[in-house]
Amino acid sequence: MTARGPYALPVVAWDGLRFPVSQKRESIGNIPALRVASRLRSSTVMRKIIKPPVVLDGCRVEQFVLRDRSMKFRGQGRLFRGEKEVGPVPRLALARHRNNEVLLLHCNSRWQVLGVSGGHATVREAKRDAERFYTGISKGWMPTHYTKVQARRALDRLPGPKKCSLCSRPWHAVEALVEIKKFAICDTCARELYRLVSSAKSDPT
Ligand SMILES: [Zn+2]
Repeated sequence: MTARGPYALPVVAWDGLRFPVSQKRESIGNIPALRVASRLRSSTVMRKIIKPPVVLDGCRVEQFVLRDRSMKFRGQGRLFRGEKEVGPVPRLALARHRNNEVLLLHCNSRWQVLGVSGGHATVREAKRDAERFYTGISKGWMPTHYTKVQARRALDRLPGPKKCSLCSRPWHAVEALVEIKKFAICDTCARELYRLVSSAKSDPT
């Protein structure tokens, strides 16, 4: 059973109580974590999270599948994370990268991303890729109806620098944002600084 929580986060119901699912603050990679009372943490009967978080791996989730037995895995040897092969997974999501590509995210039952395939130019292409991993998965896709505004809010809540300390451009408008101590610098400013330092060295006057 799921319901909408504060900040549009999914809520897990447990024995009539409700706990918001929040983003784990210490981790990078947008791994959803359950913030529950410690007495519940050891519980084995806690119900599973059904709907995916608004963003996974920094990308807005558009569609998802809860895999059933009819969707047979046939993607052996196709997807690896490091040295380890990502085998059959219970949940998959289609997420939109900010360069507009569609990523196929292979997730565990808590929507932690175990592997990524893509990016694909279109949703249809990504679904074809999913079908190559799981026969019959195409019939299982469900829309999340998450909006860009919801995704932006979810991303803004993630840890890390929000804008360049020099040009003030926000993280979503730059290619890269590097954090050095309490200072963040974007790729454009970093290149500009490098150019200035280089020319200062070659022209000491
Ligand atoms: Zn900058």
